[in-house]
Amino acid sequence: MRFILLVDMDYFYAACEELRNPSLKDKPVVVGADPKNGSGRGVVSTCNYIARKYGIKSGMPISMAYKLKKDAIFLPVDEAYYESVSSKIMSLLKSYAGKFEQVSIDEAFLDISSKVNSFEEAYDYAKKVKEAVSSSFNLPCSVGIGPNKLIAKMACEAAKPNGIKLVREDEIKQFLSELPIEKLYGVGKKSAEKLKSMGFEKIKDLAKANKQMLINEFGSFGLELYNHANGIDEEEVVESYDSKSIGREHTFEFDTDDESQIEREIEKLAEEVFEETKKNGFYFKTITLKLRNKNFEEHLYSKNIGHYMQDLERLKKESIAIFEANNRKEKIRKIGLRVSGLIKSKGQRKINEFIG
Ligand SMILES: [Mg+2]
Repeated sequence: MRFILLVDMDYFYAACEELRNPSLKDKPVVVGADPKNGSGRGVVSTCNYIARKYGIKSGMPISMAYKLKKDAIFLPVDEAYYESVSSKIMSLLKSYAGKFEQVSIDEAFLDISSKVNSFEEAYDYAKKVKEAVSSSFNLPCSVGIGPNKLIAKMACEAAKPNGIKLVREDEIKQFLSELPIEKLYGVGKKSAEKLKSMGFEKIKDLAKANKQMLINEFGSFGLELYNHANGIDEEEVVESYDSKSIGREHTFEFDTDDESQIEREIEKLAEEVFEETKKNGFYFKTITLKLRNKNFEEHLYSKNIGHYMQDLERLKKESIAIFEANNRKEKIRKIGLRVSGLIKSKGQRKINEFIG
């Protein structure tokens, strides 16, 4: 039997802002792009629960958030600060884990199977972890507990905010059954629409589907859907950097198809991404450029370099080459640059894999 925790910090960016300025605590706080009196571009990154009461949500255009609550506290994203808080939290969490896997800046899986022997013990352990986060950092988090990563993740969603939710092996069916299909981990908006058009409204409907039919329809994702709907997830908690990536984004003040302007911005993003990568001692293998046009259509272009590298000039050159190869000559609203396939420089790969 495995015991897996997913610890996810609540409204992390906004909570960090409250941390360094406690007077924000009783005010609606929105972290994201500059609203510029309602004409600003870009989106809300995170907001606190007071802001959420006004209907503000992460991912929403900042201009809409401004419309909903003009006198909310709007703050720019200070990623360097959040990273510094995050790395302290992660090392604390890691000290509680048998196996540890950081998922994002504010989320990590802890396999505690070597620490506890029952779900009762797992629950007490989760409480201890949550209290340690709270007393060390004065930050709220939520914890999901389950026999696998899928259930831990979904239990954590149900625990938010500031809660703990345990789903035992024999409670999985009950826990999943009444949830709508879009709540199933891994199901995005598009797949939810498609699944609904096929007659699957709830997770329990999908759990009873014909497995082969799902595979025919969705390929390997179909098998994953079937397994997940039945609460099955064999994935291990692994301390791997492969799932991690480092990226930066930029929203243009005005939509632009000016190639030299776009390329200058790509170079700037490359510098920022590179700095973050180097600071953390990572080498990377894959570069992904994201272009969002004025109609909000996003296109992703990736290139696998074929070996691990840590080279700024090369990153700039490759990123611009990706842009030039895929330039649709349309007006661009936002660009993003991301490196992935990350490994630490020491100990994980033979040295000759770095050369080139
Ligand atoms: Mg979070």
